[in-house]
Amino acid sequence: MADYDYDLFVIGAGSGGVRAARVSAAHGAKVAVAEEYRVGGTCVIRGCVPKKLLVYGAHFAEDLQDARRFGWNVPECTFDWATLRDHVLADVDRLNGLYTNTLNNNNVAIIPESATVTGPHEVTLASGRTISAKIILIAVGAWPVVPECEGAEHGITSNEVFHLESLPRRVVISGGGYIANEFAGIFHALGSHVTIVNRSDQILRGYDDQIRDRLLQISMTKGIEFRFNADFEKVVKQEDGSLMVHVTNAEPIPADVLLFAIGRSPKTPGLGLESAGVELDDKGAVKVDADNRTTCDSIYAVGDVTNRVQLTPIAIREGQAFADSVFGGKPHRVDYSAIPSAVFSNPPLAGVGLTESQARNTLGTVKIYTSDFRPMKNVLADRHERALYKMIVDAETDKVVGLHMIGPDAPEILQAAAVAVKAGLTKQDFDDTIALHPSMAEELVLLR
Ligand code: NDP
Repeated sequence: MADYDYDLFVIGAGSGGVRAARVSAAHGAKVAVAEEYRVGGTCVIRGCVPKKLLVYGAHFAEDLQDARRFGWNVPECTFDWATLRDHVLADVDRLNGLYTNTLNNNNVAIIPESATVTGPHEVTLASGRTISAKIILIAVGAWPVVPECEGAEHGITSNEVFHLESLPRRVVISGGGYIANEFAGIFHALGSHVTIVNRSDQILRGYDDQIRDRLLQISMTKGIEFRFNADFEKVVKQEDGSLMVHVTNAEPIPADVLLFAIGRSPKTPGLGLESAGVELDDKGAVKVDADNRTTCDSIYAVGDVTNRVQLTPIAIREGQAFADSVFGGKPHRVDYSAIPSAVFSNPPLAGVGLTESQARNTLGTVKIYTSDFRPMKNVLADRHERALYKMIVDAETDKVVGLHMIGPDAPEILQAAAVAVKAGLTKQDFDDTIALHPSMAEELVLLR
């Protein structure tokens, strides 16, 4: 041990890196973490957390309207983007401080600069200093993809969207995935005109067809526009500073902001991994085994940089498993089955387990139960949006193998229900549970 400067050197202080560093240090390891930007990583600094706060902020638009139907005298309200933005960014600062304190309290040395791998046990900092470590952990995350088309430099990504000077009047969002649908909901509710442009003819590939169809239908009814099967041709800056977005299969679209949300790729370029024989896959992701070990024995990787499942709770679990296994004497592996996930669109959707088509392709016989209902709050608010809950059951065993839902609070409800799916409970177990009335979640135990 004494031969190395540190037992563990972590590159990247995001969700996976911070967890791995903190827990390894608690297990007695001497740990340093290099972070070139801000402690907290994508989720805390420019992802899940500020996005969710914007979702809350945007939801007031409909809440204020609905309040009138519930007897409140709501005067004409106006919205100020700068106020919301600054409060959100202040909360990000607070969390950045908390994460930094956690590392400090666990005696993890924070090195505020970028680091590259220069050998199996060596990293070199941007300042030129080299540091040796028994184990190196790569936790640098992923980076938004920007397409190669003329004028792409006029667009922004989720890195910049939280810092906009003002609320754009017209937003074009490229992509039909998580970020596209979440920001479409946010900007539309705040008053922007939103157009989603996607290369395929669908949104949210991977989610259950009926659920994503419902989001598409509700989004279109709200006034969000969609252009499908459309590739970017060029983006032209106009004299007034606005943009004209040229795509295939549609008229040019004027925009004040163009947001690229076409996926995130592992941030491995320039990391020097080849110097230690760390292999990458064809997408540039670090190849790891079930214990997060790369093709170099002394180098591990967790989180988005491995491109297994690009979700914060997975990176955290991987960081924990790494630390416990390598420094805690308690080896364990992450269980990737039945991972719940959600899209914080408006309304939000969430799912766990197999979709209907996955179940039909992999199981013998499948039973599908759905509840398509108008939440009572929407009825009184005279809002026509319907919620849709869907349960996928293996007909042979009666096991619930998938749950998918769209509607108010779907992620909150799904998190609890995911415990039942993970535990392998049956449709009968759901039926045996008494309904909690009146709630939306009770639909889950009343499916016929
Ligand atoms: P997604 O992978 O969710 O969606 C990417 C979209 O862009 C798809 O619609 C895809 O089209 C399209 N696309 C992919 N590659 C290209 C390309 N080269 N040119 C044009 N279009 C392309 O990516 P996001 O950027 O929205 O999010 C990145 C990741 O971050 C997500 O995968 C998710 O793991 C994570 N995330 C999670 C959130 C959450 O948990 N709520 C929130 C935000 C992000 P196609 O229709 O063909 O698939």
